[in-house]
Amino acid sequence: MRSQDLFEESKKYLPGGVDSPVRAYEPYPFFAERAEGSHIYDVDGRGYIDYCLAYGPLVLGHANPKVKEAVKEQIELGSAYGVPTEKEIELAKLVIKKVPCADMVRFVNSGTEATMSAIRLARAYTGNKKIVKFEGSYHGAHDYVLVKSGSGAMGLPDSPGVPGETTKNTILIPFNDYGAVTQLIDDQKEEIAAIIVEPVMGNIGCIPPKEGYLNFLREITNENNIVLIFDEVITGFRLAEGGAQEYYGIKPDLVTMGKILGGGYPMGSLAGKREYMEMIAPSGNVYQAGTFNGNPISVSAGLATLKQLDDSFYKDLSDKGNYMRKGISDILDEQGLQYQVAGLSSMFQLYFTDKKVMDYKDAKTSNTEKFTKYFHNLLGAGVFIPPSQFECCFISLFHSEEDLEHTLEAIEQALKD
Ligand SMILES: *Cc1c(COP(=O)(O)O)cnc(C)c1O
Repeated sequence: MRSQDLFEESKKYLPGGVDSPVRAYEPYPFFAERAEGSHIYDVDGRGYIDYCLAYGPLVLGHANPKVKEAVKEQIELGSAYGVPTEKEIELAKLVIKKVPCADMVRFVNSGTEATMSAIRLARAYTGNKKIVKFEGSYHGAHDYVLVKSGSGAMGLPDSPGVPGETTKNTILIPFNDYGAVTQLIDDQKEEIAAIIVEPVMGNIGCIPPKEGYLNFLREITNENNIVLIFDEVITGFRLAEGGAQEYYGIKPDLVTMGKILGGGYPMGSLAGKREYMEMIAPSGNVYQAGTFNGNPISVSAGLATLKQLDDSFYKDLSDKGNYMRKGISDILDEQGLQYQVAGLSSMFQLYFTDKKVMDYKDAKTSNTEKFTKYFHNLLGAGVFIPPSQFECCFISLFHSEEDLEHTLEAIEQALKD
């Protein structure tokens, strides 16, 4: 098999044979050759229905025709300028129109950069140092947030090389817990700059907020002059045109986005209320910069993507998600299994635990060995899901009824085995 050989070769030159840890799984990952619509094809001549979708960006499927067209046009005109372009204004306007809390936006290159900058801005705005994050949430790979995160860290949520001095100002609390927030704020409100939250946790499987929880976070942060940051790198343009803030009707102060925003090309953004955003350099003095910020190719792909998103699109995605979750639930019932089907809209996951999953601790009760068997079984049947229990599956525009049915059959067989 070529993938196996390539992995052996790759390990000599790239740490662990990959460029991001979650991509390496036993015995070897398949190497991609091409992808189109709902399918990804490997160098061994096999095709898979793809629910990983590059970990979230490809809401319009692989190689979306309109995105391809826009990128081709831009490539002819140059790849990076180091001066502003009209397209950046166009994309900013579109983001601001769609995302409720966004008055202004700064385009960056990744979700990691977006949360790093949002945290700096919140600290500058409040003059406080401490930030609060939830156990199992992932806000990218920078030092301040690399404490008990979920995601590709694959059971290594903390990392050597991150000094205790850096993370001593990062406070961790469990998600969906009201008392933990109240008590923390009672004790330390004078020192807290921000609460950063994934409104739906998507890096520890998929954990939606309890009813009213985001509203509670909004009220308590308002009352205590704490900045509320929604990390919508996954949920932005995924749950609704305006992301989770539209879906749940809660306006944060700042929002970080990425993944879908760049239409499959590297991109992130930080957006929010004008009084915050105007503090960013050069309009204010909070430093943020990047050689590739607002890169014209990513911006073109983002524009071509965002223009295709509307209410009927989200209705369709959500119907597909409901169909999958209901299908998996029915299979579990038939087989008398007590596992948890999680998710909403076009996000889903199956937890191998009999405990309802409401936070990190619950998610960790899953049997990851069973998950790994399930993953390999699906792969053998031509279905690719992220190789970790603590990631989330995504559905795209191009997932057909046939794809979904084939997937449910594969899941039924995998659970039997
Ligand atoms: C993926 C992700 C990030 C990091 O984005 P990158 O583009 O990988 O740096 C941050 N926050 C959340 C919620 C994410 O899912």
